[in-house]
Amino acid sequence: MSDKFQAVVIGGGPGGYVCAIRLAQLGLKTACIESRGSLGGTCLNIGCIPSKSLLNLSEEFHKVKNLSNKGIEVGEVKLNLSKMMKSKQKAVTVLTKGVEFLLKKNKVTYLKGTGSFKSKNEVSIKNDKNEETIIQAEKIVIATGSVPVSLPNIKFDEKIIVSSTGALDLDKVPKKMVVVGGGYIGLEMGSVWSRLGAEVHVVEFLDHITPGMDKEISNEFMKILKKQGINFHLQHKVEKVEKIKSGAIVSTSDKVGNKKDFECDVVLISVGRKPNTSGLNLEKIGIELDEKNRVKTNKDFKTNLENIYAIGDVISGPMLAHKAEDEGIAVAENIAGQSGHVNYDTIPGVVYTTPEVASIGKTEEQLKEKNVKYKIGKFSFMANSRAKAIDDAEGFVKILADEKTDKVLGAHLIGPHAGELIAEIGVAMEFGASSEDIARTCHAHPTFSEAVKEAALSVDKRAIHS
Ligand code: FAD
Ligand code: NAD
Repeated sequence: MSDKFQAVVIGGGPGGYVCAIRLAQLGLKTACIESRGSLGGTCLNIGCIPSKSLLNLSEEFHKVKNLSNKGIEVGEVKLNLSKMMKSKQKAVTVLTKGVEFLLKKNKVTYLKGTGSFKSKNEVSIKNDKNEETIIQAEKIVIATGSVPVSLPNIKFDEKIIVSSTGALDLDKVPKKMVVVGGGYIGLEMGSVWSRLGAEVHVVEFLDHITPGMDKEISNEFMKILKKQGINFHLQHKVEKVEKIKSGAIVSTSDKVGNKKDFECDVVLISVGRKPNTSGLNLEKIGIELDEKNRVKTNKDFKTNLENIYAIGDVISGPMLAHKAEDEGIAVAENIAGQSGHVNYDTIPGVVYTTPEVASIGKTEEQLKEKNVKYKIGKFSFMANSRAKAIDDAEGFVKILADEKTDKVLGAHLIGPHAGELIAEIGVAMEFGASSEDIARTCHAHPTFSEAVKEAALSVDKRAIHS
């Protein structure tokens, strides 16, 4: 007799493992299947965590090198890249082991191997020796995440032509690096290698970086990154990448057809990710996909089959770890008969560069498109005492509020700790707060968060410090 579970989650990333824990908390006999040999998914193994570790380490290196400008003399500062990579790996190992502990603690059965559908209630699991186990499941959650996409006829070798996975593990600092795509991955990984000494060129198809972000923030972001030494080539498309002995030649053309070649040691292709449904046997059991090959779900995360659900990067919506986690919790609650839901209007997005960039809710462009009348409050970190005190005062806070009701509709920040500051606005938006509610809340002095309060005051044209 094969093992029988009330719920089985395929994929142990932030969507899958969080969902499995919540299902077990709600009393369901649950299993979580993961193929990579380590829990935590893309996020912990080859995504959020290793990239944030390298962003932090490279920023520390960069800061120490420039301390003498602030009156702190240090000796020669040298980079030991292999030690830095080990430090990054340690963070990954500690966290992935931590997830394994959490599954055990919550009595979730962790099944190592690749899951695929045998039928709508049976999942086959093949381990690395190709041995097959079949389990029975009343409810099944697909949480198989996403994988990087490349460009036509360009294959990742993860040494010279790399995806984010290779870019997180280079064994030496490239002299010159071409980054194709000015989105989250390109700008975070471009920043890492630029700080460690590479000459970085970002080739972006559009006329601006970070598509979807509030335009004013995106423009300021590019200005700051340019000052840091990153080169941008907007409205350029990559035609081919040819490997040569010393690296690669990236051939591009601009919007009027002018050609430009970049010779470099490493090319990072970061033009997006695609849902990972390969090998699941979805067609066999008749699960519908949408036009972008994502698993099609309704608002309760249910597929077209009654007992099968999907969450995270493999369905529609932003490909973010916290979105996957929240969907994991919501679907578990729905399966257990509760009313789980995710508010897609308040999912923050953060780029962990220096300065950080964070946004939530509607951009100005989206409000204009929808003909919503709005007010803007803005406050520069140049006028924030904490930011000035530590000489980290680039950027600003921008709050958008409804012209009539003053309800906060969105907020966009570029500046120190923006990724932490955005949480306050998230809570405010969840409570349907007005900008005045934020403005009337006492914020500690001297903190960066006072810039949020001042931006809220500025919605009503009554900021004190500008
Ligand atoms: P995944 O994390 O991709 O997990 C899916 C898991 O399923 C994988 O471990 C995979 O091995 C497993 N799997 C797939 N098929 C099978 C199968 N058939 N059987 C068993 N197991 C299977 N997001 C943020 O919010 N913040 C960040 O700072 C951030 N940084 C990132 C940096 C990089 C370089 C990258 C690449 C991504 C980053 N992301 C970040 C995005 C984030 O990693 C994803 O949105 C998130 O991991 C999605 O979670 P998920 O559970 O849906 O899928
Ligand atoms: P992205 O969608 O963020 O950016 C891709 C960029 O590539 C866009 O600017 C796009 O215009 C450009 N592009 C597309 N085709 C191109 C072409 N042919 N030539 C030149 N430019 C081209 O994708 P990404 O940076 O690969 O990241 C994938 C996803 O991973 C993100 O969407 C995000 O959801 C997630 N992620 C999040 C974080 C974070 O939260 N801090 C960090 C890394 C990754």
